[in-house]
Amino acid sequence: MAMMEVKLVKKVELTHDVFELHYKLPEIKEMKAGQFITFILPGVWGRSYSILELIWDIVVLIVKRWPEHNGGRWWSIILCDAKLEDIFKAVWPAGHFVLSESTENRLFLWTGTGLVPLFNMILEWLKSKNGAKYQLVFWVRYMEDMFYVEKFEALKKKFPDTFYYHLMTSRSEEQWNIKKWYITDFLSPKVVSEYWEYYLCGAPGMIEWCQEKLAQLWVEKEKVFFEKYS
Ligand SMILES: Cc1cc2nc3c(=O)[nH]c(=O)nc-3n(C[C@H](O)[C@H](O)[C@H](O)COP(=O)(O)OP(=O)(O)OC[C@H]3O[C@@H](n4cnc5c(N)ncnc54)[C@H](O)[C@@H]3O)c2cc1C
Repeated sequence: MAMMEVKLVKKVELTHDVFELHYKLPEIKEMKAGQFITFILPGVWGRSYSILELIWDIVVLIVKRWPEHNGGRWWSIILCDAKLEDIFKAVWPAGHFVLSESTENRLFLWTGTGLVPLFNMILEWLKSKNGAKYQLVFWVRYMEDMFYVEKFEALKKKFPDTFYYHLMTSRSEEQWNIKKWYITDFLSPKVVSEYWEYYLCGAPGMIEWCQEKLAQLWVEKEKVFFEKYS
């Protein structure tokens, strides 16, 4: 992996604290859906970000801007507050969180920006045209934290027999007619009987709860793939 300079060329505000960031690369490389890029920071190794999509020489990321008072987080603020044309040092692609060779049904569960590598995997699946079923579960605290719902809806219309998605919030919000859920509530014996592989991404706590729940439901460890944002 060689170090390179990437330039911010587009920024889209997806929610009050989540941004879609497009960077121009000096050269194009092969990558697998699910892999990440790592920004090199002064004095420390870096921060990694899953790749949403590679469109020719543009790499697209989705980054949550963590508040300053929340555990001293700082790099996400630098990325989200950057101006167009700002340049960063980075290395890519890396990571082993990629789709297996299997063509069986898959369940994807994530919190917040954990969507990113999974969305790239979905794009790969659409290109492959295999008939496996994909079910997505997007878990956030409030409805205002959701993004890309229109993209899921378009996929559901296009692939009504193979693509399903669910939105869950951990705080109840009557105006959206969505009840309070924890992501593990979704994992029932019936759901587990329909899926062969499980892909989890996002906050470490959520991944550990899901792993525990899947183990209780007798899902073998080899069928559970995950990326922890830690
Ligand atoms: C392989 C990998 C891929 C990643 N991809 C993304 C991505 O696509 N988008 C993105 O916004 N972040 C992603 N992250 C997290 C990112 O690397 C940084 O940790 C995050 O931006 C905070 O950086 P910071 O310097 O502001 O705070 P830090 O000082 O790095 O604070 C890190 C703390 O925040 C927690 N944390 C960081 N991100 C999340 C998250 N999304 N959900 C829950 N807890 C989190 C970590 O567990 C840790 O405790 C990824 C992390 C890894 C390891």
